Amino acid sequence: MNLLLYGPPGSGKGTQAEMLHSRFGIPHVSTGDILRSEVAAGTPLGLKAKPIMAAGGYVPDDIMVGIIRNRLVEPDAVSGFILDGFPRTIPQAQALDVLLTELSKAFDRVVYLRVDTDELVKRLAGRMTCPVDQRTFPPSTAACPEHGVKLVQRDDDKPEAVKKRIEIYLEKTLPLLDYYSAKQLVSEVPGVGTIDEIHSRVLSALEHAKVMN
Ligand code: ADP
Repeated sequence: MNLLLYGPPGSGKGTQAEMLHSRFGIPHVSTGDILRSEVAAGTPLGLKAKPIMAAGGYVPDDIMVGIIRNRLVEPDAVSGFILDGFPRTIPQAQALDVLLTELSKAFDRVVYLRVDTDELVKRLAGRMTCPVDQRTFPPSTAACPEHGVKLVQRDDDKPEAVKKRIEIYLEKTLPLLDYYSAKQLVSEVPGVGTIDEIHSRVLSALEHAKVMN
C-alpha cells in the first residue's frame, strides 16, 4: 500500500501517519523528520537546511528529490510506504511520478487532511515539542509526561515562521490537490476532532476507495 498523507502544516499528518504505520507495518516517511535528524547530526545537508527550516521556507526541490529517492529504495519500503511532507511542490510531484514509474510503483491513495487556516494558526503558534521524541503538546504544557524533560518550541513554530509556512503552503503546495485530483486519487478527510476520530475517518476513506483489503 503506497499512501500520501497530504495537508497543511499542523493538520496532523505526522500523527495519522504514525497510526497507519502501526496498523499496516509499512514505513512512515516524513521528510521533516529526515531533515531534522540531518540538522541534529550536523551533516552538510543539515547545515544547509537548518536556517531555511527555521524561517519556515522550503528546502530546494533537487535536494528533497534526492532524499526521497534514497529513502524509497530502502528494503523496508518495498511493500509500501506512507509519505508525509513530500511532495510539497509541483516539480517534486513530477519528479516523484518519474521515480515511482522507475520503481514500478504508484500511489494507491492520497489522503487530504483538511483543516482551516484559523485552526492551523491556533495549533502551531505556541505548540510545544518534546526534545526526545519530537511529540507535540498544547502551549501550556511544561514538561513531557513521558520523558519528564522540559518541552521546547520548534524554531518553525515561532509566529513569524508559522505565518511563512502557511503562506508558502498556499502558494506552492495547495496546487498539488488539483494535480492529484486530476488523477482521481484524493480522499478528503476533515482533520478536526479527536485523533482517534480522525484515524477512523482515514481508515473508512481507505476502505471506501478499496485500498484496504
Ligand atoms: P510541517 O508539515 O508541520 O510544516 P514538517 O516536519 O513536515 O512540518 O517539515 C518541516 C520543514 O522541513 C518544512 O517547513 C520545510 O522547511 C522542510 N521540508 C520538509 N519537507 C519538505 C519538502 N518536501 N520540500 C521542501 N522542504 C521541506
